Amino acid sequence: MKYDYLIVGAGLFGAVFAHEAKKAGKKCLVIDKRGHIGGNIYTEEIDGIQVHKYGAHIFHTSDKKIWEYINEFSDFNNYINSPVAVYGDELYNLPFNMNTFSKMWGIKTPIEAQKIIADQISELNIEEPKNLEEQALKLVGRDVYEKLIKGYTQKQWGRECKDLPSFIIKRLPLRFTYDNNYFNDRYQGIPVEGYTEIVRRMLEGVEVRLSTDYFDVNDKIDADKVIYTGMIDEFYDYKLGVLEYRSVRFETEKLECENYQGNAVVNYTSADVPYTRIIEHKHFNFGTQPVTVISREYSSEWKQGDEPYYPVNNDRNNLIYDKYKRLSESEDKTIFGGRLGEYKYYDMDKVIAAALKLCETEL
Ligand code: FAD
Ligand code: UDP
Repeated sequence: MKYDYLIVGAGLFGAVFAHEAKKAGKKCLVIDKRGHIGGNIYTEEIDGIQVHKYGAHIFHTSDKKIWEYINEFSDFNNYINSPVAVYGDELYNLPFNMNTFSKMWGIKTPIEAQKIIADQISELNIEEPKNLEEQALKLVGRDVYEKLIKGYTQKQWGRECKDLPSFIIKRLPLRFTYDNNYFNDRYQGIPVEGYTEIVRRMLEGVEVRLSTDYFDVNDKIDADKVIYTGMIDEFYDYKLGVLEYRSVRFETEKLECENYQGNAVVNYTSADVPYTRIIEHKHFNFGTQPVTVISREYSSEWKQGDEPYYPVNNDRNNLIYDKYKRLSESEDKTIFGGRLGEYKYYDMDKVIAAALKLCETEL
């Protein structure tokens, strides 16, 4: 069999590309080394609850076209992510907003909160923040940094905040209104039937082979081009260096209770709790089942053979990635895409946008 495209990875990037390529009349084969489609957005139903097997996924975007695109494959509910943070015996709303500040300092108005933060910042003498620690301190001052950022970030990334890039913390909104919405995006929600169903619909009519590793089959498949969404350094047998990732271990439990923690996402921000957060999956879909499923997330350094989750975009790794990228530009048959192929901390909407952009030039 001869294919126009061999697509390595049945995650979101691969599925969007495969869907569009099929529509354009191309013959595609999608392979994935895992035994299921969906990549990291894979959800699995347990007792009527959609369980996010590789970490909680909330779809959010400000791009109307992307919102309309994803809605072609599923209905979305009106879930708004509003995590809470537990620090010792204190509980705060996230992201950093007037609810957080009011609880932390016993104040009521934005002017009071802004004054406290400004006073804390003025003692620091930070001009241009050079790393996550300086960026966080300069944004919210010392109290919020110490209680809600420092411990969580160091657990999440296994590195000191001063050794991490500042863009990571800029993902979180800071506002002086009583608004617990974790995102500023215009559109947000959870697919009512789970993410796997979205990917299944994208791949309808496309040949898919699971439990199939590219490195075992690449010389046996005849395809004009390869869309590769695995790790770029693995593709080149790590010859220019090994890129670092963070991996995550999930301890998932079914509990015979209706409501364990009252919220989908509870972050544990102090360093002495070993996990970063607990997800209670049913709350993403306003579930009313008599049981519940929770997952504790433990962050760890990735080593070969582990599942890679978060690219660690510090100077060392970005330098190595740039070398791989230059090398990849000389390929005439293989195109790299997605979170692993581009070594980028991509949200789902950005992955879809990148895949559609590739479709424009490629198809
Ligand atoms: P992946 O989903 O990783 O797919 C790549 C696929 O390639 C995998 O299935 C893999 O098995 C396969 N593969 C790799 N190598 C090979 C090989 N050699 N042979 C065959 N197959 C191979 N985004 C949001 O927008 N909102 C969120 O709330 C959100 N939460 C997240 C939480 C966590 C814990 C993580 C890690 C990410 C989160 N994301 C979120 C990001 C989201 O997961 C990604 O944007 C998206 O899954 C990336 O899709 P992808 O296709 O690029 O990669
Ligand atoms: N973060 C934090 N405290 C929190 C939540 C997040 O310090 O309670 C920081 C942490 O550094 C994290 C970053 O903000 O890596 C981005 O958080 P986000 O929730 O976007 O992470 P993701 O969902 O990608 O794991």
